Amino acid sequence: MRIIPISLPTPFYVGPVNVYLIAEDPITLIDTGRKTKETIEALREGLRKVRFRVSDIRRIVLTHAHEDHCGLARSIRDEAKDAEVLVHAWESGHRIGRLEYEDHRTLLVRAGVPTDEIESMRKVYEGVRQYADSLEPDEYNELHDEEELEFATGALKTLHTPGHTPGSCSFVREADRTVIAGDCVLKRITPNPILSPDPVDPSKRFASLSEYLVSLARLRSFAPTLVHGGHGAPVNDFEELFNRYLRAIRERQATVVASLSKSGTTAWQVAQQMFPDADDVHRFLSVSEAVAHLDLAHSEGKIALEFADGVEVYRRPS
Ligand SMILES: [Zn+2]
Ligand SMILES: [Zn+2]
Repeated sequence: MRIIPISLPTPFYVGPVNVYLIAEDPITLIDTGRKTKETIEALREGLRKVRFRVSDIRRIVLTHAHEDHCGLARSIRDEAKDAEVLVHAWESGHRIGRLEYEDHRTLLVRAGVPTDEIESMRKVYEGVRQYADSLEPDEYNELHDEEELEFATGALKTLHTPGHTPGSCSFVREADRTVIAGDCVLKRITPNPILSPDPVDPSKRFASLSEYLVSLARLRSFAPTLVHGGHGAPVNDFEELFNRYLRAIRERQATVVASLSKSGTTAWQVAQQMFPDADDVHRFLSVSEAVAHLDLAHSEGKIALEFADGVEVYRRPS
């Protein structure tokens, strides 16, 4: 099975995004890049180099619905005459527009984020939305855990690997233990678990970091030899990376727990202490990071949580 990586530009700190062409019937593109002229041109060029065209694509599979991964899905689908689009049902994100929900706002209020800050986060994300077309229910099919994506000479098994987002999926080729993992596995940075409503009960928040740890362990059970991530170079030392992630998560958890005051600290305050210079989308990401670590520490019984005027306040046990 020929898996051909194509690197597409993004303006983000995380760098260019990797999309993957499976050059075998049915011709499949895993992730798409942002919806910009520059990106579609880079995609055309990448395809041309390996003698393919956008119109050859029969299937578009999305690892998750962040705009740098899903932005061009609808344009490609239209140009490739109704190529099938597949994405996990739990993946809302830019499929239907992020942060425009009351659910999201409620989570930010509970995290202690001030009203004017929530408003400016909303504006930042509205600006980002232009880089992805939303997909209507009749424009995609749901991707399921364990679903086999069949190709002429083999299959990719879908693994639902939530954490970075609730509906993130990875794809394993069991024949040679190659994995395409989207933003679940990145070579140089620990993926950020994004603050999201729980898809099953939107009044709750998704336990992103504990889900992420389960997903990592599940990927590890396949003993991957090569992992293609959503950004950066492929990973051929997954075991080492896995241990590095665990250490990084434990270290950050210790920092977060130590930053809590006796009188109580909100996730917003923790985010500000950890990332005082965060700007733009990073302000939302820093709250996501703080909430994820506080949730995990609380679920492990390391910190106390109580509500004060609808805001969650965390304390270190004395
Ligand atoms: Zn992402
Ligand atoms: Zn990404």
